[in-house]
Amino acid sequence: MSHITDTIRALRSSLPESVMLVAVSKFHPVEAIAEAYAAGQRTFGESRPQELLSKVRALSEMAQASGDPALYSDIRWHFIGHLQTNKLKMVLPYAAMVESVDSLRLLQAISRWGEENGRTTDVLLEFHIASEETKQGFSREEILGIVSAEALPNVRIRGLMGMATFTDDETLIRSDFGRLTSLFDEIVRLRDGGRCPGIGSDFCLKSFGMTHDYGIAVGMGADIVRIGTLIFGERHQA
Ligand SMILES: *Cc1c(COP(=O)(O)O)cnc(C)c1O
Repeated sequence: MSHITDTIRALRSSLPESVMLVAVSKFHPVEAIAEAYAAGQRTFGESRPQELLSKVRALSEMAQASGDPALYSDIRWHFIGHLQTNKLKMVLPYAAMVESVDSLRLLQAISRWGEENGRTTDVLLEFHIASEETKQGFSREEILGIVSAEALPNVRIRGLMGMATFTDDETLIRSDFGRLTSLFDEIVRLRDGGRCPGIGSDFCLKSFGMTHDYGIAVGMGADIVRIGTLIFGERHQA
């Protein structure tokens, strides 16, 4: 058996059943996705619009050629990278969820696209929890502002996403993740007190944990983990 198949199976049997595994396939070829799919994986993460679109098309061609056009049609794509508003049409028709909403402008644009195209998109708000300046994401105050405002018609804010500081220091990782879980709990309390018109009862997802820290994340209550390197190997960035 191959590494991809082995790892998908091992992860599936070690992760709690309630935890959603996003296999992050960015920078890896469609053949790797096909292999993970054959091992039962259905949710994949991509971070660049053009790459997502090319992979959707390539997999659809592979399905046609296989004689089973429905093959791969049940893949759920999670978009996890920085998304520019002029690239929405490359992503939103295919994405089951955009995990990386990092500006109000983007949130509004996703809703507007949805109104024009008759779709409602599930999104997560990306919370900046790492100590590195470079990582994207909202501040706590910005997120509280969004969930306290009126809901936008064509987006469902399903929860929060975050990336911890890239470090081996477990204490630091725990404190980063802890900021995400406390903000999440605070929002749920506010919502249950009727003070968050921007979200509904389906605000219930915390996405945190990657290859080097997913074990900690699961222990701290992550609902979604996004794992790339462990499954597919090192990425060779262009
Ligand atoms: C690349 C990426 C991942 C996967 O990282 P690995 O360390 O390869 O598991 C997860 N989340 C986001 C947002 C990413 O960009």
